[in-house]
Amino acid sequence: MLLLLAQLGFANGLTSHQWITLQAVDELPEGELKDLLSRDDMRPYLLNGALFPDGGYAVGDDYGEMAHWELFQMDFLDWIRVSGTDADKAFLFGLTSHGMADQTFDSMFMERSKVYDADYGWASGASMDEATDVALASQLGAGEVPDVWFPEVFPQLYAEQGHEVDAETLEQGTGLAGLAIRAVGVMAENPDAVAGYDAKFPWANAHIADAGTRCSPLCEAKLVAAYWQVIGDRLDGGDGLGSPVIATVPGDGEQAQPLEAGSPESTVAVVFARGLNSESVTPNVITVADMAGADVLVDLGVFYGSGSHVVLIAPQQGWEPESDYVVTIHPGIMTYDGPTLTEETTFGFSTRTTPEGDLGCACGTADLPASRRGTGMACALSIAATIALGRRRVFIDTR
Ligand SMILES: [Zn+2]
Repeated sequence: MLLLLAQLGFANGLTSHQWITLQAVDELPEGELKDLLSRDDMRPYLLNGALFPDGGYAVGDDYGEMAHWELFQMDFLDWIRVSGTDADKAFLFGLTSHGMADQTFDSMFMERSKVYDADYGWASGASMDEATDVALASQLGAGEVPDVWFPEVFPQLYAEQGHEVDAETLEQGTGLAGLAIRAVGVMAENPDAVAGYDAKFPWANAHIADAGTRCSPLCEAKLVAAYWQVIGDRLDGGDGLGSPVIATVPGDGEQAQPLEAGSPESTVAVVFARGLNSESVTPNVITVADMAGADVLVDLGVFYGSGSHVVLIAPQQGWEPESDYVVTIHPGIMTYDGPTLTEETTFGFSTRTTPEGDLGCACGTADLPASRRGTGMACALSIAATIALGRRRVFIDTR
């Protein structure tokens, strides 16, 4: 089975993507979208969408990388608005879950693993995605393999975006992605295999379902559910910018923010509703003020560059103990494909520690009630999303 995974060239995180996608349905507010995605007959389309992007890696075709990003996904969305069925819609929500989960997981969880597992799997070139996927499957159960399906229009949509790919290639990649899910499920049943993966990424595997770890997997599902409401709005003809910031980590009002400069723990993340133009994310459009109202020196980076959603804010000299901060997103940030954000958004966090204010879920989505912020309980079911970092074509970290 190890050989099979090696031959596939990936086995990364697809079980995690399925888990997050299904969990995100539960996280949606009651309404039409939740009703649609909860339907049993939609499940195969939703799950196929969630695994589809990584199938491209298995067959070495760029269709997979393209499917991770809004440039392709929103082209599909536009087509759905004219000609799509419910099955196409469910597939789109699977696709967008995958894209958003990869970005948020990599920018927050993986960045920590790179520090804490530096002498282990990262030193030997092992795949964190594969390791965490096996750990997840062993703790929460194996994924499921839906019958291969993708929208018939895809070869045409890819061609319109300048990429020729035939239906046979898409079918082959999707089939291999399903095989990877099955393989991870088999490995997860083997204690020796699980222990081997744990040894390669001890921190990542030990924290994959840990409630106290920043941006834990249930948090991922919350982020995806928040993003899905943006996608739902765009399907209805809106611009998806009603709430341009869909989440911040730490959440608004959260305490116990770690202090140390240069550590992924002190980094603050802002997740936007649409892919950004990374050139427009400059020090004057995102500022951090201390309690005296003075600007704090920070480094800004759009994780994965233009077209992506996550901005990381790192304090150049660390945060001060027992201090409160206010982050302001000023008007002027541009999306990669047109609209400029015109509304100011602010949120606050603190380095103070009170008995009530532990780090907890560390996941503030816009719709998260204040009572649930900063509590570890909200993350008790957490699991992570994963991707194969090395296979990313787009990686322009502006930090
Ligand atoms: Zn992926």
